[in-house]
Amino acid sequence: MQGVGFRPYVYKLAKKFRLSGHVFNDTKGVVIELEGESLKIDSFIDALKNSSPVESSINAIRKKEIPLKGEKVFSIAQSKQGENKFVMMPADIGICRDCLHELFDKKNHRYLYPFINCTNCGPRFSIIKGVPYDRPKTTMNEFKMCLECSMEYKNFLERRFHAEPISCFNCGPTIKLLKEFKGKQIVYSKNSKTDLAKTAKAIHKGKIVAIKGIGGYHLGCDAYNTKTVRHLRALKKRLTKPFAIMAESVEGIEEICFLNAKEKEIIQSSRRPIVLLKIKKHFPFMEAIAPGQLYLGVMLAYAPIHYLIFYYLKKYSAKSLLVMTSANKENFPLVSQEEELSQIQGYADYFLVHNRNIQTKSDDSIARVFENKEVIIRKSRGYVPDFMDFAHKKTILACGAELKNTFAIAKKGYLINSPYIGDLKNYKNYEFFLNTLSHYKNILDVEPLVYAHDFHPEYLSTQYALAMNKEKIGVWHHHAHLAACLFENNLKTKAIGVCFDGAGLGQDNAIWGGEFFLTDQAGFKRLAHFKYFGLLGADKSAEEPRRMAFSLLYDIFGENMFKYKLECFDAFDIKEKHIFYGLMQNDEATLSSSAGRLFDAAASILGIMQKVGYEAEAAILLEMLASSFTGKAESYEYKVNKEKNTYIIDWQPLFAEFIKDVLTKKDKKLIAYKFHLTFARIIGEVCVLLRKEKGINDVALSGGVFQNFLLMNLAVAELKVQDFRVYYHKRIPTNDSGISVGQAVVAAAQISADF
Ligand code: ZN
Ligand code: FE
Repeated sequence: MQGVGFRPYVYKLAKKFRLSGHVFNDTKGVVIELEGESLKIDSFIDALKNSSPVESSINAIRKKEIPLKGEKVFSIAQSKQGENKFVMMPADIGICRDCLHELFDKKNHRYLYPFINCTNCGPRFSIIKGVPYDRPKTTMNEFKMCLECSMEYKNFLERRFHAEPISCFNCGPTIKLLKEFKGKQIVYSKNSKTDLAKTAKAIHKGKIVAIKGIGGYHLGCDAYNTKTVRHLRALKKRLTKPFAIMAESVEGIEEICFLNAKEKEIIQSSRRPIVLLKIKKHFPFMEAIAPGQLYLGVMLAYAPIHYLIFYYLKKYSAKSLLVMTSANKENFPLVSQEEELSQIQGYADYFLVHNRNIQTKSDDSIARVFENKEVIIRKSRGYVPDFMDFAHKKTILACGAELKNTFAIAKKGYLINSPYIGDLKNYKNYEFFLNTLSHYKNILDVEPLVYAHDFHPEYLSTQYALAMNKEKIGVWHHHAHLAACLFENNLKTKAIGVCFDGAGLGQDNAIWGGEFFLTDQAGFKRLAHFKYFGLLGADKSAEEPRRMAFSLLYDIFGENMFKYKLECFDAFDIKEKHIFYGLMQNDEATLSSSAGRLFDAAASILGIMQKVGYEAEAAILLEMLASSFTGKAESYEYKVNKEKNTYIIDWQPLFAEFIKDVLTKKDKKLIAYKFHLTFARIIGEVCVLLRKEKGINDVALSGGVFQNFLLMNLAVAELKVQDFRVYYHKRIPTNDSGISVGQAVVAAAQISADF
């Protein structure tokens, strides 16, 4: 990997062991030629294995003896291009300890400099325009290094030897705080030292500031100022979706959230994701930030600009927390260019802009900890690109799904993911997809030979692939989910795959999402699923849990359904009742087995929510309710029937009992918990049935529903009691942004099987 300070490290090590020779990058990795006593060479290699620069990792070391050349010194040689320009471009790195120290060291010439960075930290992916990764191929090419910076840049012994974004007050980018943004050319002046202090003052006064960071803009404001936070919600028309917050230190976070050692490690890591943490106590200010949540998305400051804002805020308050939410219109891509600021005009009172251009935008990543392991929910800034080892050699482009789209490229033994793109139904997101794709193709020197895609004909990602005059491989949505899970767990044999998801097209044109497969990376056979029910309206069924409740209640009670006093009925007017009743009566609803929709129905019947404000909100609130249950409970009834060769899981007895509990006004927390427990029991029992038939003991879990951590906990526990080996997602999201990786995996496996 380039840009992580490996060559300077090797240089210093060679000096230490008094070895001569040289080091250079080529397209396959780092080449080191050493001359000296063999004992010292062995010590050198040991040292290299045991401690390499923080941001690097060594996959393998290969040794070869060559004739002596009689080199007198050790040197860093020019990078070699090799036969093609495939280069592993590095991800963005949060500010390192050394730079943070210098940032606040009065004697340092970069004291309070908003763009401080070094060989170990700073922007990478976001500023790369071309390869090899050298300054002229980054957006820093516009800035000519001053003498002082260029001395550091050229000196092997400096912390900033070949730190491509190196700069200082004399020669680097400049920030500017704008009161309003009128789309005019911004005039930057060198003298902007007071702008960050003004930013802090505005935040303190309850203003909203659009702040340009690494992967794009945030909308930032004082997290303690409930009035401002609610104002921001109203402006963004985002009434309930939780905001992420940014803190200056782990100590600051510990006052409001629980952090175990693993969570501390991840939140402080140089990737600096948002980590979902358990809230300690629901302080009043949190209700505006994360309504109804038990977990809060928290990140640590990661750009020097963030630390400086916290620094200037100290003038007003000893401790600060910022709401830092992606600056975008709902379902639009993140704003990263000044020309795009008009999209968020009206959201911000001030704009903190700077003139280091962001070449490729990326949202903050989101992670959480499960079984003491990092589980990535949104893989973007700091985590992209991730070069995952991939046995297949043919160049494949996997176009991903629609919601939460990402793409992935397989080339030369690697599988490389795109940043998080978002919902392709919005044309702006599709543009983001196309632009990022052409950037990747250019950087990675890729011309795909194979296009892998979802089978859903309406996904723009599918249409993109189908328009290509190349080999195309369609991959079933839930197979892609599971294949991604098998791949990241390095499972090459057959497994029982459990895919609980929101929606994906199935082989029989029904919308699947509650499936049990016998699966491997190349194929699958559906062995069990939830009994079909009707989806009232395609996309609307996910937005309105009341529709799911209506559908299930009709199935269970038929014409008697309205006799039951359930809150969900109040959500319909007479006309709607007639329309939906007619649709059900005439069997006009699309059929589905989606577990996600069953959770929606439960949330509606329980009276939690009838229309969601953001994706999966009802199911999330059901989970929160269930998670706050303490005590012992039993699961609900359900039936598993065998029809032909498939097990059908009948949810009718489950919902019948569930509704009885609702009507008799049992504790809602208990009801929600029993519902979760029942799904875990279903997973356990069906897997046992399938093991008896197939003799397979490996279970892979995938699909968006497994973002539900209570269900994850209960299901994994259930399966472990039954002695299954359980595999789940960590490095690749379990939701639809993991689909592209799965598509590449399936396509590669199918191609290999052909040969
Ligand atoms: Zn640094
Ligand atoms: Fe899905």
